[in-house]
Amino acid sequence: MCLPAVGRGEELHISRGGESVGSGSSSRSRGEGLIFVISSPSGGGKTTLLRKVMEQVLGLRFSISYTTRPPRCGEEDGKDYHFVSPLVFRKMVERGEFLECAEVLGNHYGTALHNLDILQAQNTDLLLDVDSQGAKHVMERMNQAVLIFVLPPSPQVLRERLLRRGLDSPETIQFRLASAMKEISEAHGYHYTIVNDRMEEAVEELKAIILAERCRKRRDSVLKQKIKEWEEVHGKNYGRGLSDKCGKPL
Ligand code: 5GP
Repeated sequence: MCLPAVGRGEELHISRGGESVGSGSSSRSRGEGLIFVISSPSGGGKTTLLRKVMEQVLGLRFSISYTTRPPRCGEEDGKDYHFVSPLVFRKMVERGEFLECAEVLGNHYGTALHNLDILQAQNTDLLLDVDSQGAKHVMERMNQAVLIFVLPPSPQVLRERLLRRGLDSPETIQFRLASAMKEISEAHGYHYTIVNDRMEEAVEELKAIILAERCRKRRDSVLKQKIKEWEEVHGKNYGRGLSDKCGKPL
């Protein structure tokens, strides 16, 4: 059965519509080889959040996962997910081709190691949309991973969002709410949490996290570059022999 697409299709339209790789030099316009891992219970608003942030921050690329779940209506192989059979997925696991993989709501999902090739492109960061099991595996293996958990404001709001989506039966909604509670209770290891109450605020928070992490990553190279520039203008020994008001050497 072909179900209507929710979520990921939109994310991939973004990467299709021009992955946001910038050529500028500010933290807003270029990535630093970081991996941003975003998790959220179903209905947490992660899809819209990622789409908006990718529209506004350059240098972000989305990692396309492998899954054994059938495509929903509107989803395209190789753009939304790589849709593979359970056998193909198992072979990939056996060959050690995944950075991480997990079973989520009865289907298998995995981030292929070759997705990391994107990081070889200059000025790029990678966005991973994975569940909390996957996030933990990524953190264990990749020290540049930044883990961000997106929370719905309350169980009531989450329930309303799931009902409004109109995709699930009442039983599935109950199941999703129970899974959400489990995921939230396991989200302690994340570096950041964002409560997605008002979308525009959540967008600003996620952008702020990305830009701050980029600044942190760049701090040493920026210092090195600035020292070089100062030396070019003033010479290596600039300031030698100078002292402050108390006679202490600067
Ligand atoms: P959906 O089938 O609704 O697109 O995604 C279901 C869940 O699977 C979401 O929580 C999503 O974050 C998670 N997911 C998607 N891709 C991956 C992946 O590569 N690895 C893991 N661990 N989870 C994934």
